[in-house]
Amino acid sequence: MTTGKSNGRRAVVIGGSMSGLFTAAFLRQIGWQVDVFERSSVELVGRGAGITTHPELLQALEASGAGTQDLGITVERRIAIDRKGRVIGEKHLPQILTSWDRLQRLLRETIDPAHYHLGCNFERLEQDGSGVRVHFSKGRVEEADLLIGGDGLRSGVRAQIAPDVQPIYAGYYIWRGAPNESDLSPLALKTVFPYFSFYLPERQEIICYPISGFNNDLRPGHRRFNFIWYRVADAALLKEMCIDENGQQHEHSVPPPLIRKNLIAQMRADAEAELPPALLDCLNAIDQPFFTPIYDFIAPSIVHGRVALVGDAASNARPHMGFGVSKAGTDAQALAAALRDHDDIDKALSEYNRIRQPIGEKIVLHARKLGTHMGVNLQTKEDRDMHLLLQDYRAMMDWIAVPDFLKAYE
Ligand SMILES: Cc1cc2nc3c(=O)[nH]c(=O)nc-3n(C[C@H](O)[C@H](O)[C@H](O)COP(=O)(O)OP(=O)(O)OC[C@H]3O[C@@H](n4cnc5c(N)ncnc54)[C@H](O)[C@@H]3O)c2cc1C
Repeated sequence: MTTGKSNGRRAVVIGGSMSGLFTAAFLRQIGWQVDVFERSSVELVGRGAGITTHPELLQALEASGAGTQDLGITVERRIAIDRKGRVIGEKHLPQILTSWDRLQRLLRETIDPAHYHLGCNFERLEQDGSGVRVHFSKGRVEEADLLIGGDGLRSGVRAQIAPDVQPIYAGYYIWRGAPNESDLSPLALKTVFPYFSFYLPERQEIICYPISGFNNDLRPGHRRFNFIWYRVADAALLKEMCIDENGQQHEHSVPPPLIRKNLIAQMRADAEAELPPALLDCLNAIDQPFFTPIYDFIAPSIVHGRVALVGDAASNARPHMGFGVSKAGTDAQALAAALRDHDDIDKALSEYNRIRQPIGEKIVLHARKLGTHMGVNLQTKEDRDMHLLLQDYRAMMDWIAVPDFLKAYE
């Protein structure tokens, strides 16, 4: 796509994270005037979250103008280790591992700051067939030809147009953190840090890989280690975990500083008993581990009148493929391509829905298959067979977060 002249059309985008920024970049290229509204009043930061990349993401970053400069760290190999830390499997698979912060920074530079509005909380919308009126907290109102919901898993935009579509708890969650390379033990630095590492005991998964340090520092000694530990918890246990240090019940997750100290102490005690020494060292180097419950959902339609959903607001897969940002970028790109190719906005939106809704659905279903490794809610024979297959670490290394998995569904 090339940068076009203004076509007199305006889009309002809700959400200033990955999908919102990608959407703004691609729509501007086809001549739309775009404003992004983000509820956070301060610049977004990603708590050091690691992001695996895919060819689709690299392509979308280049096409959007964000580019891929200093994107991250290339690891050459995957390894699987056993309880004693011995390497039991290896796979050559070069992959660039980046961080949420790096992507946010690259994408943020594609947008004129005058069109990126922090501190604007979307409240509700009205539409009349030819346009949308968007209401924000504090009384702000914006009008546009098109409203795009890039406002994530618990999208307020989606809640208005498709209130029945709700995230479904997967029955498991992750403990996570990103310790500094300089805080890791010599054992961890030598045996797990250089690799995309897997430890896969029954009904658990630990997946780790190196990412850049603060301010995208890629120098050896200044990087971080993305650490993710999947564990099973039923809805009742999750609810109990969501009671914070002050005794207050949270609905979905607890802000990291408020996670109960006794919960963290219990997790650390479990780790002492269960983890290989190098991974225990990594966990012990995380000052403030936090947990994220895993959800997914499929929306039967990602377009409602003049409202289109992109990224996690449109569909959300469990993170086993590490494909969320790739999907955000390619949703946004497909939306802009449809609007470029059809002068009639409604036809363009219908085309976007026709192309992207099934892709989102496939990704969610694929991730559910991979989630059977955790042994939760295995309802069908296919689930049980998949669960058995994924008890083999070789299958996990072949399937988890690998590039080009969508080709199997073409
Ligand atoms: C544990 C875990 C690991 C992951 N690993 C990977 C990985 O390796 N690779 C990968 O590609 N993806 C990964 N993902 C997924 C990835 O983080 C998401 O897919 C991606 O961030 C989605 O971007 P988004 O912009 O659609 O939504 P979000 O990043 O959730 O952004 C939504 C934005 O909307 C804003 N917002 C919400 N409500 C309002 C409102 N009312 N008004 C205004 N603004 C609002 C929010 O503040 C937020 O900034 C992972 C996710 C998890 C949970």
